[in-house]
Amino acid sequence: MNSSGPRRTLTDPFGRTVKSLRMSITNRCNLNCIYCHNEGDHGSTGEMTVETIANIVKAAAEFGVDRLKISGGEPLIRKDLEEILSALPPLKDVSLTTNGTLLRGRARSLKEAGLDRVNVSLDTLDPGKFRMITNCKRDILPIVLEGIDEAVEAGLTPVKINMVLLKDINEAEIEKMLKFTKGYNGNVILQLIELMNFRDTAPYHVDADLVEEELLQHATDVTTRTMHHRKKYFINGAEVEFVRPVDNTEFCANCNRLRVTADGKLKPCLLVNDNLIDVSHASPDELPGLLQFAVSKRVPFYGHDTYRQEK
Ligand code: SAM
Repeated sequence: MNSSGPRRTLTDPFGRTVKSLRMSITNRCNLNCIYCHNEGDHGSTGEMTVETIANIVKAAAEFGVDRLKISGGEPLIRKDLEEILSALPPLKDVSLTTNGTLLRGRARSLKEAGLDRVNVSLDTLDPGKFRMITNCKRDILPIVLEGIDEAVEAGLTPVKINMVLLKDINEAEIEKMLKFTKGYNGNVILQLIELMNFRDTAPYHVDADLVEEELLQHATDVTTRTMHHRKKYFINGAEVEFVRPVDNTEFCANCNRLRVTADGKLKPCLLVNDNLIDVSHASPDELPGLLQFAVSKRVPFYGHDTYRQEK
């Protein structure tokens, strides 16, 4: 890549240029959250090698993709995550989404290996609700909280707390969570996420419009991010982002990410499963063409004809 930017970009037929990769590096997880979509990847059991991961990211970077989000399963289950991070090309932003249970004792080595920041999934500060949501019998909430402290100390900031809103479970906890994040003096940001229905979870769905109205009433300032047109609210010195993926044409219209499944398939869209491109055994020479092919298959799910007909 030269200093004036990439010669080529990955632009789909709807004019959306891919700038970021969301890559699952394992399907294994030590929790079993009641609502989990598992990044839309339900079948794969294989895992990419460090070399395959690095080759995919390097090929994408040649097209100007400069952001990477590492996900799973639980990505920290992979003991070679530091090795993966060290093998990546220079990027603008490398982040990790984790349930935080294995973060304690590892935040510093992740930072040293090249990780910029983490998102920690934390839906509740109530130990009983935490056990219920995650289907985990052990009391591991304190370990997650220690992991968040260590991530802040290691400079994996801003740490984003991913809180999926669940009716009658945690919807009344937004204020408490805001207070919790505010205690970190700007190093921790709350990210509220609207539940997507993947596991017959419709009864837990919270009306996102009502939540936004409530946030708006308390906000001193509101901004809109380019990414998915997400709203950011500033409330009493705390920052809250709201991710609304459901029935949101703007969520798709502004999507600039390409997904990669744990076993090495390019996945053009979270919500579509019949257009995956296997790159697990692709050579560095083949990868650019396969990336372009995958991006040519991207459709805006909401607002697309197929979706409208199904409604
Ligand atoms: N284990 C890691 C974690 O907990 O962050 C990474 C995988 S998890 C699938 C990634 C993110 O997706 C988490 O923040 C989780 O809350 C979110 N998520 C999972 N299922 C969801 C759903 N049905 N609707 C909305 N967000 C969901």
